[in-house]
Amino acid sequence: MSEHDATQEVVRLQGLRKSYNVGTPTEVEVLHGLDLRLQRRDFAALVGASGSGKSTLLNLIGLLDRPTAGELFLLGQPTRDMEDAGRTALRGSAIGFVFQFHHLIQAFTALENVLMPLMVAHGKPTEEHLERAHSLLGQVGLKGLEKRKPDQLSGGQQQRVAVARALVTRPALLLADEPTGNLDSKSAAEVFELFRKFNREFGCAVLLVTHDPRMSEQCDRTITLVDGHIESDTALDSNPASGR
Ligand code: ADP
Ligand code: MG
Repeated sequence: MSEHDATQEVVRLQGLRKSYNVGTPTEVEVLHGLDLRLQRRDFAALVGASGSGKSTLLNLIGLLDRPTAGELFLLGQPTRDMEDAGRTALRGSAIGFVFQFHHLIQAFTALENVLMPLMVAHGKPTEEHLERAHSLLGQVGLKGLEKRKPDQLSGGQQQRVAVARALVTRPALLLADEPTGNLDSKSAAEVFELFRKFNREFGCAVLLVTHDPRMSEQCDRTITLVDGHIESDTALDSNPASGR
């Protein structure tokens, strides 16, 4: 963590709104003006009932979708009016994603899947990239399995490949949407531990959507969405200044 300022602002939302089906009879606003800050040190759970807007918010923060109003700053840069190419480049360099379903490429080995984000950004992998991917696969407990294809790995192992892939670019922010929802409790706990470890060691902010109270209770901060509003944002006593 030492190479980064733990209090560096990674995300800032200002009056962020999102409507779907804009300009049609079914137009509906699902996020109603959110304000939020995340710093590098943050390890935050995003919780709320189904339909409260968690995935919508993650997609906005991850630059996969654009807000209807308000602004989203990523590493200090306003993103709302950024052109697509700039958003794609910023997403690729600053953000790692882990979804409930890992979306690994079945035809690729574990190592090739982990290398993908670097190849998208830089083309043919360098020696340093290969070392980094190997090292990450080791850190997620998959040493020796680098050449396996996804269908030769367990569900928990596949999700660990997805975690390594999300971190290979050394992002400032890791977004995870119900990353353990599809795993047995032992694998889920292992994947959660990886997030903790990377937050601690790489200083990468983590925003984790989860339904599992056992998981949110182990986060430093819990942000609760109710019907598209932030109803509460609480820090654990051990990390009182967390984020805000
Ligand atoms: P969560 O992840 O908390 O379950 P979502 O962000 O998926 O919530 O959804 C929030 C609300 O937005 C829900 O009412 C959902 O039906 C609606 N919604 C999500 N995506 C779309 C879409 N593409 N078009 C229209 N409505 C959507
Ligand atoms: Mg969702």
